[in-house]
Amino acid sequence: MKKKVVIIGAGFGGLAMGIRLQARGYTVSIIDKQAQPGGHAVQLRKGGYTFDMGPSLITAPGLLKELFALGGKSLEQFLTLLPLDPYYRVYFWDGSFIDYTGDSERMKAQIAVLSPGEERAYDAFMHRSRAFYGAVIEQGLGARPFGWRELIFFLPKALRLGALRSSYALAADYFRDERLRFLFSFHPLFIGGDPFQAPAVYQMIPYLEKREGVWYAIGGMHAVAQALTRLFIDMGGMIYLETEAKRIRVEKGEAVAVQTSQGELPADIVVSNADFLHTVRHLYPEPYQWGASRERWMSYSMSAFLLYLGLRRTYPERLPHHTIALGPRYRGLVKDIFRRKVVPDDFSLYLHAPTRSDTTMAPLGGESLYILSPVPHLRPGMDWKALSPTYVERILTFLEEKLHLQGVREEIEVLETFTPEDFALQRNCTYGAAWGPEPLLWHTAVLRPPNRSRRIPNVFFVGAGTHPGAGIPGVLLSAKATEVAVTEAYPLSLAPVPV
Ligand SMILES: Cc1cc2nc3c(=O)[nH]c(=O)nc-3n(C[C@H](O)[C@H](O)[C@H](O)COP(=O)(O)OP(=O)(O)OC[C@H]3O[C@@H](n4cnc5c(N)ncnc54)[C@H](O)[C@@H]3O)c2cc1C
Repeated sequence: MKKKVVIIGAGFGGLAMGIRLQARGYTVSIIDKQAQPGGHAVQLRKGGYTFDMGPSLITAPGLLKELFALGGKSLEQFLTLLPLDPYYRVYFWDGSFIDYTGDSERMKAQIAVLSPGEERAYDAFMHRSRAFYGAVIEQGLGARPFGWRELIFFLPKALRLGALRSSYALAADYFRDERLRFLFSFHPLFIGGDPFQAPAVYQMIPYLEKREGVWYAIGGMHAVAQALTRLFIDMGGMIYLETEAKRIRVEKGEAVAVQTSQGELPADIVVSNADFLHTVRHLYPEPYQWGASRERWMSYSMSAFLLYLGLRRTYPERLPHHTIALGPRYRGLVKDIFRRKVVPDDFSLYLHAPTRSDTTMAPLGGESLYILSPVPHLRPGMDWKALSPTYVERILTFLEEKLHLQGVREEIEVLETFTPEDFALQRNCTYGAAWGPEPLLWHTAVLRPPNRSRRIPNVFFVGAGTHPGAGIPGVLLSAKATEVAVTEAYPLSLAPVPV
């Protein structure tokens, strides 16, 4: 009976996997090289300012609630979630904006102002988005390993729904105005994808947001990671931070232990929540390791340049809780980032101003402003130590001149950055790509790295690198899929059935 599980990585995927397997009766240990749990969802505290360093939008809270129920608890015992309305404000390149919300009537009224007549397409677009959601979420395709059987079931439907065309092409079927085409095609960027290449099935996200809302957890996203960690420990799980996996030890074709920076942990089952290529290239021992030729087959997602500003004041009239501020180019910018892989001269930004909902995140009257600029993943010769100071200056100029955050430079008390090099060094993200394998057609479903290793039978994957993909809802679903894979392959004879 294989019972002892070691999970490499305490991201949302690793934590959810730990909770699920612990609830099933396995004995689970999680290790992570970072000093805090949460993976990308760690927190930076400086000068009284608190910054969530990675994810900030909570969607599909139902998936989180399921985890607390597995531990016999409720989410509300650990966390306070606030619904956000609008979900985010989008400033277009011409200065116009939309407060994006799940309320159809308010959306249609705003669309009618931007491009009269096009509001009529909104319901039809959402209907299409709902159909994708139905296939992936309601029919459970995202929550179980995706094999050939699932493909045979899904393919005719996917073709009928146009789920394999690009996200942008889908939006262009409904909207003529380029601003609206952006608004209804950009969602793949949330999961590290190129809207001009990512299959339209990822356009289930608008409906997912509309159905379940966009939320904020008091204390920030890291508070959610901490709550999951507490739940996991309460359930009997063990977590070791500042412990880096160096190698999975394999004997007679099966993993028997994880060698770490702190010693060896014996394992009957190993689950990697670390970056996929990092696992198969550096944690697999010879002769199981992937070679360079296999690696070339994979396309990796974009990266991000992050700027964290502790400001003495807030800008509520310009910045609601979440803001997207677009530069002049859409297709060209995306092409530079994803296909040409050059650091462009212009950018679009995503901003998070948490004190709009939670004043504990900054000193009284101040703001912990988080700014994300999508950038290409690392290429030879790209040196972010050299690029960073100029990049910061350009972002500050954009904030002043395009976003009209007047005098923002003078209000800065804290300034920190996180670059693609940091993603590579601190979290072992291959090429510093923060979202793992790119969500392209040939990295989707049966073509994405599987939930169970094809080379070492008792090694599994969970998180952004495996099926169904990145984004917190995606990685929480991947934990469900990998739970199915583990329990089918290595059932416990007396496994308790979770409620
Ligand atoms: C800047 C940014 C903003 C985002 N915003 C959102 C958002 O608003 N909403 C949303 O839903 N999603 C968002 N995402 C996506 C989402 O955060 C990720 O897809 C998700 O958190 C990934 O979780 P994961 O469990 O796959 O792994 P990760 O969070 O990547 O965690 C993997 C962990 O493995 C550890 N690790 C790696 N190698 C080793 C090793 N050898 N030994 C030990 N530990 C190791 C790493 O230290 C890390 O802690 C964002 C992502 C980024 C980068």
